[in-house]
Amino acid sequence: MRKHTVLPVLVLLAVLAGLSGCGKEGTPPPKGPQASALPSYQVRSGDAVTGSPTLDAARSRGHLVVGAKEDQPYLGQKNPATGEYSGFDIEIARMVGADLGFAPEQIEFRTIASANRETALQNGQVDYYVGTYTINDNRKKLVGFAGPYFIAGQSLLVRKNETGIDGPQDLAGRKVCSAAGSTPYQRIQKDYPQAKLIGYDTYSACVDNLITGQVDAVTTDNAILQGYAAKVPDELRIAGQPFSTEPYGIGVPKNDTVLRLALDDALQRHEQNGDWKKAYEATLGLSGVPAPEPPAIDRYQ
Ligand code: GLU
Repeated sequence: MRKHTVLPVLVLLAVLAGLSGCGKEGTPPPKGPQASALPSYQVRSGDAVTGSPTLDAARSRGHLVVGAKEDQPYLGQKNPATGEYSGFDIEIARMVGADLGFAPEQIEFRTIASANRETALQNGQVDYYVGTYTINDNRKKLVGFAGPYFIAGQSLLVRKNETGIDGPQDLAGRKVCSAAGSTPYQRIQKDYPQAKLIGYDTYSACVDNLITGQVDAVTTDNAILQGYAAKVPDELRIAGQPFSTEPYGIGVPKNDTVLRLALDDALQRHEQNGDWKKAYEATLGLSGVPAPEPPAIDRYQ
């Protein structure tokens, strides 16, 4: 059993809270890739897309409500002091929002956990959702997906000194944590039933438990885990290779095909004009992985 270490937890809590010291005087420069400028997005006229009930409601409200994550470094993070969201998913939400006629300041982000995404879209709590949301056939029965705009793969995060875990086959009898309702959680449950699977609402709760020794591994997409590992490289590392394909989509209400196809067009436009790459390099790229080619958009019937 590993000794309880208080300091790394405090460090992690601080970084997850977005208090990593940016802008403070005397803060040493961060290791790895340096932040580049975020793109700015050209806002199209408000009536550029017609016939979407979701957008009609957003226009009369005066702003978009977009579902996101708030504790995933470089992807979707909320600064607790300012309430500002940032990260690659947040930029995706902003760039496509601009094409729908909404400036970044006309987007209100709302944090929705993995397990609650479909209901949030079905109940109209959010207009669309951008938060490491894997497109799959089960979910397509409940919601629509624009995209994909990124491809991730399920991986494992372990403590730096872990020697026994190199892939999901090594999880038998070990405690592995993931977010309830996520595809990585479901895959461990189904394909690796010998693992002792623990479900929390968020991956940051899992990571806290990994650092304190309560669990032996955290499993979710590599894109998410790379962010946590990059924040505390002395404590955590990714083990082995990705063992699934997780295409990220923008979740929309199932029957709003006009909105879904408008978002597909918007993604394509921003991939072609360089915004996508620029946004990646200013966000997710900071976890150390260079920008891949964006995947082909799937305008499914
Ligand atoms: N991409 C996976 C999913 O949609 C894991 C990440 C998440 O829970 O957001 O379930």
